[in-house]
Amino acid sequence: MIDRFKYREDREAYSAARVRALEALLIKKGIITDKTVDTVLEFFATKMGPFNGAKIVARAWVDPAFKERLVTNTPQAIAELDLPAGMAGAEGEHMRAVANGSGVHNLIICTLCSCYPWPVLGLPPYWYKDPTFRSRAAREPRAVLNEFGLQIANDVEIKVWDSSAQIRWFVIPERPEGTEEMSETELETLVTPEAMMGVAVSRAT
Ligand code: FE
Repeated sequence: MIDRFKYREDREAYSAARVRALEALLIKKGIITDKTVDTVLEFFATKMGPFNGAKIVARAWVDPAFKERLVTNTPQAIAELDLPAGMAGAEGEHMRAVANGSGVHNLIICTLCSCYPWPVLGLPPYWYKDPTFRSRAAREPRAVLNEFGLQIANDVEIKVWDSSAQIRWFVIPERPEGTEEMSETELETLVTPEAMMGVAVSRAT
């Protein structure tokens, strides 16, 4: 997303080679097959990802009672919707939604590692795991959001939510102005993973 949190090319190449070696070893030992990694990646590209989060947020935008339930008991509210099986499965346990609005902007991070609600957001982008991003977002969220191109007014409180294996947070962004005539399906297209992490807001265009 922003260059500042990108790793150097040689570090990327080293990590990729290491992962390939580990995968080859696991296949050789019969712990996984040559399909396992691709299967997992495809699952999180096609079944579990930000398209689910977009459906949840769009419903919250059109149905205030659902939004209330979503904030109060996130897994139960998500279970009301027609989403793929396994929303409460891997990395989807203990999900909790927080809503932007009325002088509050929310940002999710994981200071410890990379905890992230996979079923609603997919696999975390690697800058989310970057130690510099993680520590700075906790210490100076306003400055970090500025670097992401998001200016939060000084009278708006920024709440930073630290995800863990016990709670995995995601943000319900505010419904953009000028979208009153849009259908729920059209609204889904305005909900980006960045907005559900709080490093961006949803916009009408
Ligand atoms: Fe973590």
